[in-house]
Amino acid sequence: MLDQAERPASIERYSMFIDGQEVQDASGRTIESLNPYSGKPWALVPDGSEADVDRAVRAARHAFDKGPWGQMTATQRGALLRKLGDIIARDAEELATIESRDNGKLYREMLGQWKYIPEWFYYYAGMADKLQGDTIPSDRPNFFIYTRREPIGVVGAITPWNSPMLLLTFKLAPGLAAGCTFVVKPSEHTPVSTLELAKRIQEAGFPAGVFNVVTGMGKIGAALVSHPDVDKIAFTGATETGKVIAAAAAKNLTRVSLELGGKSPNIVFDDADLDVAANGAIAGIFGATGQTCMAGSRLLVQESVHDRLLERIVERTKQIRLGDPMHEDTEMGPVSNEPQLRKVLEYIDVARADGATCAYGGGLDPTLGGYFVQPTIFSNVTNDMRIAREEVFGPILSVIKFKDEDDAVEIANDTRFGLAAAVWTQNVHRAHRVAHRLRAGTVWVNAYRVVSFAAPFGGFKESGLGRENGMDSIREFTETKSVYVEL
Ligand code: NAD
Repeated sequence: MLDQAERPASIERYSMFIDGQEVQDASGRTIESLNPYSGKPWALVPDGSEADVDRAVRAARHAFDKGPWGQMTATQRGALLRKLGDIIARDAEELATIESRDNGKLYREMLGQWKYIPEWFYYYAGMADKLQGDTIPSDRPNFFIYTRREPIGVVGAITPWNSPMLLLTFKLAPGLAAGCTFVVKPSEHTPVSTLELAKRIQEAGFPAGVFNVVTGMGKIGAALVSHPDVDKIAFTGATETGKVIAAAAAKNLTRVSLELGGKSPNIVFDDADLDVAANGAIAGIFGATGQTCMAGSRLLVQESVHDRLLERIVERTKQIRLGDPMHEDTEMGPVSNEPQLRKVLEYIDVARADGATCAYGGGLDPTLGGYFVQPTIFSNVTNDMRIAREEVFGPILSVIKFKDEDDAVEIANDTRFGLAAAVWTQNVHRAHRVAHRLRAGTVWVNAYRVVSFAAPFGGFKESGLGRENGMDSIREFTETKSVYVEL
């Protein structure tokens, strides 16, 4: 593992990746990628243009329609995916170092993600040649009818800064297995790991044009969404951006899948193991500095155990070690970027102004400063306060009391989001009963923030459209065709 002190003295300069070539934007303009720990730029990437998007889409279209990719068998595609998984596993430490430097998340967490990412490629590699159609028993005796599942075509993938590669993998592994080609627009805050992936995709032997990366600001994403030759947009990011994308995509009826924000309830009943629940609540909100879509930002606690649980959580939160994301003993890193820092601090003020009680934290860390916000706990929060209704995407926990099961479910579901939820109880009947009543795409019982490549992930309500991971996800990258053959 690299220490911050070993950070390269010079700034790394990266190129975009279009049609198997490393390219700079013709204008020569660049974007600086900042290391949130040092607050200094460490990499430069091209500030791409609409012309670059067009070039990349044409390359992806050519690769899809006319290149060797379209001629490959599904089994051959699967073999390429497996090889890519092996290369990523080989380079996991290097890639985790780069991503931790780019987004300020703990090296430990990033390494865990990079070691797990190959499993997605292996899982969907095995699925590539099992995407079979049906024979249709029909009302037409003179016709033999069957269906084919065909790749949807050129996919535009637009990703956020919090877990850039894991969230791209959710799209890329099933999409490539299905036979699609990609143009990726990574976040302007964390573009580097996607460019590093491009090198490895080339090394694995994917034909030119199958995977293209255009770096730049949101307007590059917008150009991708409105490009008439893009067949599907797979987006992860904020709900407000998702709505803009859905509206723009509707003009060409471009298919969309959207993985958006959350305000997830973490519900602790009085029969829960409070020690375990306290740890789950802390990991659910302060893990990744609260910068996960599935953060357990609303802690709903049954009245009878509220004070005891709150006390335990505050005591443990005091012990959280903030510091260099590269060091093994650091437990919480900085907020990832300047706009996010401003947003988190603003919400702390909003919570106070709305009458919530700051039980711990409540500002910049006094010793580290920079992008370091204290892990912060607000109690006496009611579900109508802005701190309970809006996504902060930072280390701010809102603690809300409830009376009984009905009350808990009502508060939990009283949100425009529906990404995730958790239930802490030792009563097996209650666990399932409440899990069924919660309007969320994922529910954990006595656990938090567990994700598997094999289980569908996505949002109810304004948390998204469609599902990633699992068997169904690969279908989101295909179209069904019916073929009628006269007998
Ligand atoms: P964001 O929406 O600001 O940006 C995401 C991406 O969209 C970036 O690449 C950005 O450049 C691009 N973009 C911005 N405007 C665009 C436009 N008009 N058209 C097309 N692309 C555009 O989100 P962010 O701040 O990078 O990420 C944080 C958000 O992502 C949070 O709301 C979080 O909940 C959400 N998120 C969701 C999931 C999930 O799986 N549901 C996972 C991680 C993060």
